[in-house]
Amino acid sequence: MATGSCVCGKATYTLKGQPLARSAQAICHCHDCRRLTGSAFTYSLQVRKEDFALFDNSGSTDSATPLLRETKFTHISGVTMKFSACGDCGTRLYKQVESPEHEPFLLVQAGTIIDRGGDKDGQGVQVKPDMELWTKHRASWIPAIDGVVQKQEF
Ligand SMILES: [Zn+2]
Ligand SMILES: [Zn+2]
Repeated sequence: MATGSCVCGKATYTLKGQPLARSAQAICHCHDCRRLTGSAFTYSLQVRKEDFALFDNSGSTDSATPLLRETKFTHISGVTMKFSACGDCGTRLYKQVESPEHEPFLLVQAGTIIDRGGDKDGQGVQVKPDMELWTKHRASWIPAIDGVVQKQEF
């Protein structure tokens, strides 16, 4: 089992299962994911919803701010995605794709996963991706990851 949290520590979660993800670990280089993360790409681990448990670590009973804020956007691939971010610090913890085939899954932002010992180096990003998406929008200084499926779009 692994744990994860937002940067302020209010929204924490546990992830059952080992390894963390078996089916899909994807980096997306598209413009939408770039804006979403404020970085060069996003890295998501697909996990089953029943393996994910969210906790409020603030110790506060003040309900003025929701634990998570949810925002929808249309991804370049045409699907509607909903991302869930800490209500206080805004760290995006996971996304959901609104389609029947994706119903059972969450796309957890890999960088929010830390290991059981609280290692801030992050267990999540140590999981090697199995595909890179929208590589035609990849920043020119980022090389393709060796042995990882490359998709121009998705
Ligand atoms: Zn937070
Ligand atoms: Zn994307």
